[in-house]
Amino acid sequence: SEFTALDAQIAAGEAEEEAQLAQPVLAVVGRPNVGKSTLVNRILGRREAVVQDVPGVTRDRVAYDAFWAGRRFTLVDTGGWEPDATGLQASVAAQAEMAMATADAVLLVIDASVGATATDEAVSKVLRRSKKPVLLAANKVDDDRLLADTASLWSLGLGEPYPVSALHGRSSGDLLDAIVKALPSMPRDGDRATAGPRRVALVGKPNVGKSSLLNKLSGEERSVVDSVAGTTVDPVDSLVELDGETWRFVDTAGLRKRVNSANGAEYYASLRTKTAIDAAEVAIVLLDAAEPLSEQDLRVLTMVVEAGRACVLAFNKWDLVDEDRRHAMVRELDRGLVRVPWADKVNISALTGRSVRKLAPALRTALKSWDQRVPTGQLNGWLADLIAATPPPVRGGKQPKVLFATQAGIRPPTLVLFTTGFLEAGYRRFIERKFRERFGFEGSPVRVNVRVRE
Ligand code: GDP
Ligand code: GDP
Repeated sequence: SEFTALDAQIAAGEAEEEAQLAQPVLAVVGRPNVGKSTLVNRILGRREAVVQDVPGVTRDRVAYDAFWAGRRFTLVDTGGWEPDATGLQASVAAQAEMAMATADAVLLVIDASVGATATDEAVSKVLRRSKKPVLLAANKVDDDRLLADTASLWSLGLGEPYPVSALHGRSSGDLLDAIVKALPSMPRDGDRATAGPRRVALVGKPNVGKSSLLNKLSGEERSVVDSVAGTTVDPVDSLVELDGETWRFVDTAGLRKRVNSANGAEYYASLRTKTAIDAAEVAIVLLDAAEPLSEQDLRVLTMVVEAGRACVLAFNKWDLVDEDRRHAMVRELDRGLVRVPWADKVNISALTGRSVRKLAPALRTALKSWDQRVPTGQLNGWLADLIAATPPPVRGGKQPKVLFATQAGIRPPTLVLFTTGFLEAGYRRFIERKFRERFGFEGSPVRVNVRVRE
């Protein structure tokens, strides 16, 4: 059916995004009690992680947002990972393996007051195979007496040891500088190239009322800025004042100059729709309330979701809707809009002007969600509870584990789950649904990507 085809299309689009991660991950590994959590706290500059004196105590919160020198990264304390391996050496080695597979860089912490132990050496051997950057912190260098000893840690083959005292904060700035330098540069969050009015695409199938709505919103034709000399306004855009705020309706030139249908008109209409969506941050998808949802409507919605844009559904021509039609609609919409249950719906009439002033608040809500970021610590606290209550389904006799998660990006909000196994689409949708129940995100698509450690 058309919905299956739609699903497949969307899945393909999401697969392309899979590898993207805007916020790099640093995993901290090392033996118990070397001071990993203390160092994590030091780097975070706050007392959020729980420090335990008892080795092997599970911490349910393992990942946090860190900032240094203008860079944002996810800091993962592997102390909470509980690898299956038995024996200290094997379990620390397993932690290092997981760190290498999931993180973008690894920080090995050694207790300098003890020196390199056999376990430290074994882990270093594992980490030397890493294609990703590895940094070495010699912790508990509380005063100068231990400083000379740290030079011997060069022998671990991981490069320069950074002497630090997590407890007293000594030299952690140098270590952080080195970390930030080692982290790969990632694409920034969805570019808002220029500040200024937020960009809106007004899209929908032909004759749904796009140009009527644009005219209605603009008030009068002359108040619309099609092209202003000496400004950066793209001549194909329109600046529209709604609810005390100026919005940039992108790529509206085509709506104004009506192209008469000729061969290929539909192809060009869809190309224009795509261009407008790509240029926008939020889309108003116009649907004809007087007619059943069509395949064309769903294609436009798919484009918006695939492009990762925020979205408001506007049911136009509401003046033509009677009681019977309203009843029919409820059923249709439940089936037809399964992909966008999160989108705000507004019933309007471009002809009479009914409820068009509800559009601006809906656009604001959608953009706020699109810009929203859930802090990593909060996200993992919530996720740990969710997964404990409803673990991922067993596949091939194995229970995939979710090690930690981070909201790697905004515009659109993108979660990345770091796991030990494949998470099926149904379970990812479950996580998305619960995520929305907990954190909102009305009006914005949310992507749930999975990074499986090999
Ligand atoms: P983890 O198991 O590796 O996460 O280690 P913790 O962060 O829980 O620290 C273990 C113990 O070492 C705690 O009692 C900390 O207070 C102590 N510790 C951590 N960093 C330092 C340090 O720089 N100097 C000293 N003297 N003790 C530290
Ligand atoms: P576009 O192709 O999407 O730009 O659609 P138009 O704005 O050109 O509108 C197509 C037709 O629908 C025109 O005849 C409009 O007058 C009519 N129309 C647009 N909005 C409404 C509405 O809210 N109610 C009614 N009854 N007709 C509308």
